[in-house]
Amino acid sequence: MHSQAEWFAFCGDNTALKHLIIAIDGPVGSGKSTVARRVATLLGYIYIDTGAMYRSLALKALRSGVSIDAADKLAVLAGETRIDLRAQDGTQQVLLDGEDVTAAIRTPEVALAASKVAVVPDVRHVLVAEQRRAGQSGGVVMEGRDIGSVVFPDAKLKVFLTASPEIRAERRWREHQQKGDAVDLVRTLEEIHERDQRDSQRATSPLVRASDSVVIDSTAMDAEDVARLVVTLAKEKAG
Ligand code: C5P
Repeated sequence: MHSQAEWFAFCGDNTALKHLIIAIDGPVGSGKSTVARRVATLLGYIYIDTGAMYRSLALKALRSGVSIDAADKLAVLAGETRIDLRAQDGTQQVLLDGEDVTAAIRTPEVALAASKVAVVPDVRHVLVAEQRRAGQSGGVVMEGRDIGSVVFPDAKLKVFLTASPEIRAERRWREHQQKGDAVDLVRTLEEIHERDQRDSQRATSPLVRASDSVVIDSTAMDAEDVARLVVTLAKEKAG
């Protein structure tokens, strides 16, 4: 761990960094959220977790009985839905039509449903437009699957964060354990494989590494070190 003073010394004067768009993409469990939140805190940026938007829409579909496979209905639902992401104590509060669903969208069931909802091109169209609106002024760290490739292809800094499937499954499993959720490690690894496959193989905006992205393998790195590396890269880009 690093003290706040050490971090300040490390980040130094970041006025030149005020308006970058930092895109962080990668598969589930690669550490995107932790790293993106930390980078945003260090740079005084807004943090936007786009996965929360797909999860929120999936939750609404599950609750309202709209089939996760009914593309037309999902597209209509997307157009009728309001999703607000609000900064809250260094984290992000998620409001679905005004209701706080920050915790409700973090279940394995919603995660799997989100990866199905995310296959629908018209759903992506609606949510990508929202994401562009939210990030267009810069000073933002946005994480997802298609940020550097589709949402902000001109982002100054693109990071593709990855790690071995086993370590990603273990991280996700630990997160659930800490919340007191009974989940099985082997089942978690299977779900990660399933989501990886769906995210990488869908026709619209699949999870791909943008050719101008920096690949960081976090298998043997902790989130703090990855965040520090991303801030260094951001300083280089701004400099
Ligand atoms: O990042 P997270 O695991 O919360 O995302 C949930 C699902 O939303 C992913 O499995 C992926 O299918 C989808 N997603 C996406 N594009 C994004 C962010 C998330 O397709 N930019």
